[in-house]
Amino acid sequence: MVGKTEVESLRAKLRGQVIERDDPNYEAASKVYNAMIHKRPLLIARCLDVADVITAIEFGRNQNLQVSIRGGGHNAGGLGICDDGLVIDLSLMRYVRVDPKAKRIRAGGGCVWGDVDHAAHAFGLAVPAGIISTTGVGGLTLGGGLGHLTRRFGLTIDNLLSADLVLADGSFVTASAKQNEDLFWAIRGGGGNFGVVTSFEFRGQPVHTVHAGPMLWEMDQAEAVLKWYRDFLPQAPEDLNGFFAFLTVPPGPPFPEHLHLRKMCGIVWCYSGGPRKAATALKPARGFLRPALDLVGPLPFPVVQSMFDALYPPGLQWYWKADFVKTLSDEAVRLHVEHGSQLPTMHSTMHLYPVNGAAARVGPDQTPWSYRDANWAEVIVGVDPDPGKKDVLVEWARNYWEALHPHSMGGAYVNFMMEEGAERVEATYRGSYERLAAIKGKYDPKNFFRVNQNIPPKQ
Ligand SMILES: Cc1cc2nc3c(=O)[nH]c(=O)nc-3n(C[C@H](O)[C@H](O)[C@H](O)COP(=O)(O)OP(=O)(O)OC[C@H]3O[C@@H](n4cnc5c(N)ncnc54)[C@H](O)[C@@H]3O)c2cc1C
Repeated sequence: MVGKTEVESLRAKLRGQVIERDDPNYEAASKVYNAMIHKRPLLIARCLDVADVITAIEFGRNQNLQVSIRGGGHNAGGLGICDDGLVIDLSLMRYVRVDPKAKRIRAGGGCVWGDVDHAAHAFGLAVPAGIISTTGVGGLTLGGGLGHLTRRFGLTIDNLLSADLVLADGSFVTASAKQNEDLFWAIRGGGGNFGVVTSFEFRGQPVHTVHAGPMLWEMDQAEAVLKWYRDFLPQAPEDLNGFFAFLTVPPGPPFPEHLHLRKMCGIVWCYSGGPRKAATALKPARGFLRPALDLVGPLPFPVVQSMFDALYPPGLQWYWKADFVKTLSDEAVRLHVEHGSQLPTMHSTMHLYPVNGAAARVGPDQTPWSYRDANWAEVIVGVDPDPGKKDVLVEWARNYWEALHPHSMGGAYVNFMMEEGAERVEATYRGSYERLAAIKGKYDPKNFFRVNQNIPPKQ
């Protein structure tokens, strides 16, 4: 039990906030994005700066508390919070500084991607990230980072130049290609296992206006579309990215009424190679089978990044299953269509995110993100606002995943996984696992940071 005096002493030392269970803000502060997750931390320390993080870590250590690190709160399994422990909540650390000359972007450890997109866009820059702007920079980066610019500029970690961290013993370090190189290697995929990242420094890429949006086809054409996509995408120009999806058309603009609530398949394109070449790059997609709807057009990059935010607000029920995929055999395509056409709710979906292009040119040992040889990261999500639908979401996603898993590479992208046990974490890191465990042993020998896709330390 943590005494009142100790809590008051923590409150006095922190510039941020300490939220206890009897605080009127507690219920809101202990919620995460996925409403399927219910955890009740003992204390939430909302840190304002590095000094606060050092204090919070020291407090957690001295009080022998389980500690979790919360960035954007989007984690599938709710790994930003914990039961009966201390949450180090970074949501007040949301600053971004752009150095336009050096094309470097520094983001506070609690930023969400919309913060970075907004600040960088003013200088014609962007950092490759995910497809929803409310996702945390922290969790997404530390797990890898797949999105609209992956094929052209690689994963988010391939654009990470350095990071500042507070370690389990309270010391402050910088990790980069020149400082604490082993730690820098480990955080580019190894998740929140190694310390609290208080700031990230990224290389900004020259991206301003892109040609992006979905093309949709009827479900009875899904087999042909998926086969075409499978053959086309891996050899397409790298400035063209497109993720495949099974979806239900949302009942509102910009979708025409006759398609509302229709189950369809689609490809969400993002062409970043300039307006003059966009039509040529997208011609094969428009030509092989006329889409029922084509919403691809010129858009500022931050608009593309937030295109799905309204469809997926916080507070929905999410059940996730995932795998890496190298090839999509005809049988795998058939199974995808069989399960993808049975989406159980309007928000449920399956996405195939490309991993090839620039992401595949980074050597397998350069980062612990060990599926550079995959062509896709597959994610199946059962999603709905109604908690009563939980069983339906889980059953559909599990059946779908079980049918496709034998056609996968075995492991899954760590950021698309819920809590699935130690074996799945090992499968995610493949050949990098032992080295990660050794680095964990050096920087966090007591496994202080264990509320994550945990890599137990090897001494
Ligand atoms: C709607 C939605 C869309 C998504 N789309 C994509 C996508 O397009 N591409 C993609 O790659 N991923 C995507 N993801 C997955 C996303 O990358 C993970 O959910 C990620 O964990 C979210 O990070 P967060 O900071 O918001 O999470 P949190 O729940 O806050 O944190 C998750 C974990 O990250 C670690 N962590 C977070 N911040 C820090 C920090 N500053 N220092 C140390 N550790 C930290 C901690 O270990 C924590 O347990 C999506 C998720 C959702 C819900």
